[in-house]
Amino acid sequence: MSRTLFVTTALPYANGSFHIGHIMEYIQADIWVRNLRMAGHTVHFVGADDTHGAPVMLKAESEGLTPQQLVARYAAERPTYLNGFNIEFDFWHSTDSPENVELSQDIYRSLRDAGLIETRQIEQFFDPVKGMFLPDRYIKGECPKCHARDQYGDACEACGAVYAPTDLIEPYSSLTGAKPVLKSSEHFFFKLSDPRCVSFLQDWTTGKNVRGVPRLQAEVLAKTREWLGNGQTEANLGDWDISRDAPYFGIEIPDAPGKYFYVWLDAPVGYLASLKAYCKSQGLDYNAIVDPESHTEQVHFIGKDIVYFHALFWPATLEFSGRKTPDQLNVHGFITVSGEKMSKSRGTGISPLRYLELGLNPEWLRYYIAAKLNSRVEDIDFNPDDFVARVNSDLIGKYVNIASRAANFISKHFDGQLRYAGDRAVLEDGWKIIAQSIANDLESREYGRAIREIMAQADQINQAFDAAQPWVLAKGIADASAEQRESLQDICSCAIAGFKALSVMLTPILPALTARVATELFGLQRAFMWSDAAVLPDHIAPFKHLMQRVDAALLEQLFIAPESENKAIENEIIDSPGGEAIAPTINIDDFAKIDLRIAKIVACELVEGSTKLLKLTLDVGEKNTRQVFSGIQSAYKPVDLIGKYTVMVANLAPRKMKFGVSEGMVLAAGHADEKANPGIYVLEPMTGAQPGMRVR
Ligand SMILES: [Zn+2]
Repeated sequence: MSRTLFVTTALPYANGSFHIGHIMEYIQADIWVRNLRMAGHTVHFVGADDTHGAPVMLKAESEGLTPQQLVARYAAERPTYLNGFNIEFDFWHSTDSPENVELSQDIYRSLRDAGLIETRQIEQFFDPVKGMFLPDRYIKGECPKCHARDQYGDACEACGAVYAPTDLIEPYSSLTGAKPVLKSSEHFFFKLSDPRCVSFLQDWTTGKNVRGVPRLQAEVLAKTREWLGNGQTEANLGDWDISRDAPYFGIEIPDAPGKYFYVWLDAPVGYLASLKAYCKSQGLDYNAIVDPESHTEQVHFIGKDIVYFHALFWPATLEFSGRKTPDQLNVHGFITVSGEKMSKSRGTGISPLRYLELGLNPEWLRYYIAAKLNSRVEDIDFNPDDFVARVNSDLIGKYVNIASRAANFISKHFDGQLRYAGDRAVLEDGWKIIAQSIANDLESREYGRAIREIMAQADQINQAFDAAQPWVLAKGIADASAEQRESLQDICSCAIAGFKALSVMLTPILPALTARVATELFGLQRAFMWSDAAVLPDHIAPFKHLMQRVDAALLEQLFIAPESENKAIENEIIDSPGGEAIAPTINIDDFAKIDLRIAKIVACELVEGSTKLLKLTLDVGEKNTRQVFSGIQSAYKPVDLIGKYTVMVANLAPRKMKFGVSEGMVLAAGHADEKANPGIYVLEPMTGAQPGMRVR
């Protein structure tokens, strides 16, 4: 039976370019969508930029742009990435659109009419210089737990403590440096704790969709039990603050001047806004798709970090505004690069744009990512050596190899005609069953398993081909018997039929490559459909080269940072005082973050069990002395240092070491190449400097 689906990926925030994490999610969703389309199902696959909120507003301001201009800048570069990686959205929209304003306000009014909105006065930090309430991320101060300085308002990066901004010691606004004041304001809340919501979410999270598949993966369901209770534990749902005060880049709350929807209220509504704009452009009936009784399956692909919004708020807002709720959440983990976790702000070592600019084949990345993905919420790792091995030995060495070997015999000796000695129906049934199993794996997002099975089939085809030794049969084929000719034609035909079936199975993953196979080799005027897997080909055109092997040296270029960082590398070659290039330029504010103080070394001793460290006791003019471990044992005896003055980094986060806590760092000089140029030299100020004086 033909299905209709409405599929989305998480909306990327419009304050930056796509990173590899976005591309991974789009590839995962695109493969899923292509698999269904190849079976003849109808899929509306839409995306949009998530535009609202304080970060876009403030970034635009700092660059002298309007928020709309900033959003437009990133929107303009999206197609380069999406087309570059063969990701085929039907439509790409924006949450800063008339459709989204209308839908968000409409949903809000319905929730209000249902008695699920209430207002409360809350106290929040306000920047008196900037004249705005500060989001947690824009408040900094000293961690109340470990006393590390310059920590964000919601969590400490030094010790991992989570707290409220009001818990910070000496808080300041990171926008202006001003001391924030507590100010009261009326906020709007969505009453997620309402028994109706809790009861609905209990059902929705544990339920199955129209196809009998659980809406949530097991790990995601388990996570929701922490919030909703598990029968023994009580639900632990807080109401959701959905309003923000002006100035804010967002959608106005109806009947509440100066109040805007918090960006997370209108962001998922952007899925519907994009669908609605798409339907309008195509003459499709939007209302029929989102009707609560609609048979259209609504499926969201998201990362594990936004489960809370998609498994609780989103279905609840849809349900209580009288709309269809999602049928399935497909949650994935993060992508790491050579085992290193990527940072949201810094991105990772792999830039998708650089990947394309280097001319690396986008389908290599699609294949590699697919080979790593499964249906669980697991992180996957991009490892360059593994990447080269999988593409070269699997894709080229196994799959492409079949066609390049067998097709030449067929073209040379049989004028492109294929003939099978065995029963065609048996051969076709065999491929039909395997193709169905691959389609099922792709539907359940077991991409890695699908690829393992496809490569196992490729191995079998290659082994059968080798065992039959067609090159021996082809020798002296002019004088060969009819039987010998038929045998050669059959061996090569079976291999080509296998290659065709595997090409069909790889089509969701490698759409561009297999489109060429379909048209150039098999003469189809369209891309492969699933039904093509079980149709034995009767003729092929001469084989054309299909795909290059990965050049490991080119791949390496991907990990060399371009532009500004390249400059540093060039400098290093030309000019590297002390064995290393001068670090990237910083401004005076960056330098001011490092609090350097004169310290008197009041005691110094060897550290038992360490051949590198000395334990220093420092007087920095504070009530108590500080303990610092320093790796200078090779250069100084304790007696050389006691009574001397030096310079220390006084605001470095304390570090727990094997021998105790180190509460700072003393400054010392050394050559980058320690072996060739040994020696460590602790800094000493000129006479007169006193403990506690700041170095600036
Ligand atoms: Zn801390």
